[in-house]
Amino acid sequence: MRPIRPGDRGPAVTEIRTILTGLDLLAAAGPHTDEFDLDTERAVRAFQQSRGLSVDGRVGAETWRALDAARWRLGARTLYHAVPEPLTGEDVRSLQERLLEMGYDVGRADAIYGVRTSRAVAQFQREVGLTPDGSCGPHTMNALRRIGRKVVGGRPQWLRESDAIRQSGPALVGKTVVIDPGHGGTDPGMVVPDGSLRWTESDLVHDLASRLEGRLAASGVRVQLTRGPSPDSCLPDAERALLANSLGADVFISLHLDGHANPDAEGVATYHYGTDNGVTSATGERLAGLVQREIVARTGLRDCRTHAKTWELLRLTRMPAVRVEVGYLTSPTDRARLVDPRFRDRVVEAIVAAVQRMYYPIERDVPTGSLDVSELRAVVTAGTVVD
Ligand SMILES: [Zn+2]
Repeated sequence: MRPIRPGDRGPAVTEIRTILTGLDLLAAAGPHTDEFDLDTERAVRAFQQSRGLSVDGRVGAETWRALDAARWRLGARTLYHAVPEPLTGEDVRSLQERLLEMGYDVGRADAIYGVRTSRAVAQFQREVGLTPDGSCGPHTMNALRRIGRKVVGGRPQWLRESDAIRQSGPALVGKTVVIDPGHGGTDPGMVVPDGSLRWTESDLVHDLASRLEGRLAASGVRVQLTRGPSPDSCLPDAERALLANSLGADVFISLHLDGHANPDAEGVATYHYGTDNGVTSATGERLAGLVQREIVARTGLRDCRTHAKTWELLRLTRMPAVRVEVGYLTSPTDRARLVDPRFRDRVVEAIVAAVQRMYYPIERDVPTGSLDVSELRAVVTAGTVVD
């Protein structure tokens, strides 16, 4: 087929745009929905990058196949082991990732519903008291939703690897990062009405955390979130810190949004452990400086600098720990940016860059065999597995 390229119009472009919008790579359609415009090209490039395809901003046969597979959201159809032509799609990959996170052996998350995935589903079904037929329909989806992404003790039992490791080098492989989306459960954090909409800090920071999880995991980092999406229950700050300690985390990143009665207050600030009389966590301060610098440089948010605090979250954690207030939800300027998924991706890129810099000069041996893992692709929308 002739690649569909910038400047093209027609139903195929509409289709492409719809899929990219569903993946949060493109803002919801404006009036020119059948036009392959600059935003579409950007979204295609981001999609190609996330799927390890050659990045040319056009939709040829290979990119089209990947887009076609990406259109399925988990729960939209019943999944089963079909022979001889197995079902494939992004929903299969989401299911596989979810099962891997829960410790089931699906091999690698290759987006193909093969016999191993079917067996893992059957095992899950047995354990939750469903008929173990190995297919994933509404009942199994409900059970998956009910169990959700719980915080578990002990090390996460999965480690993700991808092409990105070979590109970015071994510095991050095997590190454990705990990401802490602030608030959650019955505590929404800052809530700001906006016309008929209502933005909550807890939802936005959870989305940020999920995106960050996907990007870090693609670099070979073990990632654990301190809570699931609302309305999951949530832990007090002290317990979040202890969780990070029990996981032996190398880095702890807490994500919040700020708020102020004055709508002119705006910008990003990063906090690390330290007291007024100069006692400070040196590594925490370094990480805070890197995070702050990268976010300011990559997003243009106003620089509200780094600050030392003795908050429990920072005091009880035994690894470099920072709390980032990524803009003011009460500022119309910051808010307009924060509600845009592409902006949130830039914030995430900045944090990933900061974590990488934290380890950049240090070469670290990765023991052979420690990468006995499934290979997961960096999914731009990682984290929003169900619902
Ligand atoms: Zn907060």
